[in-house]
Amino acid sequence: MPAPPCASCHASRAALRRPRSGQALCGACFCAAFEAEVLHTVLAGRLLPPGAVVAVGASGGKDSTVLAHVLRALTPRLGISLQLVAVDEGIGGYRDAALAAVRRQAARWELPLTVVAYEDLFGGWTMDAVARSTAGSGRSRSCCTFCGVLRRRALEEGARRVGATHIVTGHNADDMAETVLMNFLRGDAGRLARGGGLGSPGEGGALPRCRPLQFASQKEVVLYAHFRRLDYFSEECVYAPEAFRGHARDLLKRLEAARPSAVLDLVHSAERLALAPAARTPRPGACSRCGALASRALCQACALLDGLNRGRPRLAIGKGRRGLDEEAMPGTPGDPARAPTSKAVPTF
Ligand code: SF4
Repeated sequence: MPAPPCASCHASRAALRRPRSGQALCGACFCAAFEAEVLHTVLAGRLLPPGAVVAVGASGGKDSTVLAHVLRALTPRLGISLQLVAVDEGIGGYRDAALAAVRRQAARWELPLTVVAYEDLFGGWTMDAVARSTAGSGRSRSCCTFCGVLRRRALEEGARRVGATHIVTGHNADDMAETVLMNFLRGDAGRLARGGGLGSPGEGGALPRCRPLQFASQKEVVLYAHFRRLDYFSEECVYAPEAFRGHARDLLKRLEAARPSAVLDLVHSAERLALAPAARTPRPGACSRCGALASRALCQACALLDGLNRGRPRLAIGKGRRGLDEEAMPGTPGDPARAPTSKAVPTF
């Protein structure tokens, strides 16, 4: 049976049905609709003001590739300029190939690219070194917990180096729904309450961050990359199979099979969540070591590095974190100012 005509231009044959709406579109009309929806997300949310210097967190994967491509197409409409910022986590057999994809994109799209490496920023720690250290303490399954915190900090540092005023990341609706599920499953009310909205406005001196693909499904991101013939890196990180996120992803797939709107429902539910006054976390202050926003004595990045440097990575995550903070209070034996070496002190 021949494909139906495109429901938008009526001139070409449809090449796909949009996963959510079922609308039959040709490739060109689908890409135009996708870009228009991202533009609407940015304008309606007032995410990127005219004149903004936007650092795109570029990993070489499909999401950040699509994000950079769409924003580049929208640059004249938005009046912004783009900078690609890539983070080298130091993951052998994975990141080098992904960074090669980012370099090809930067050259093809004539966008400036800056690469920041964990090894340089975090006193010699690479993710491979973190994995070796945490494996000995039975925490090897937590690689992504460490990496997520350090990557956030590295991207902030990279964005500052290029004079960015805003940061964008390629998280899509499926990523966001997985995060909401994970926070529910962990009982992390604070993160649930902070996880809504389209990003963070830049509290405590941090650069504002947003996720323009937050309402785009993963399937449509892949379709857009396909129809625009984008060159991206599609292999999975060597540590990804250990991540708790994989369980949330499997659960979400089953939920979506039973209820196709489950992904967006979860994203929107997070936007509307509010914490009861009694459950609210205290107003964050400044990290006693690096000055970044922190709800405890040390920010998450400094706490993780401190635990790693002491050979006690367990202290830095989950319930052990409280112990670390108490040890790290000024004047106590854990006070970083009294630490015998400054190996893990971030260079920011
Ligand atoms: Fe880092 Fe985990 Fe992503 Fe690998 S899968 S890059 S360890 S967050």
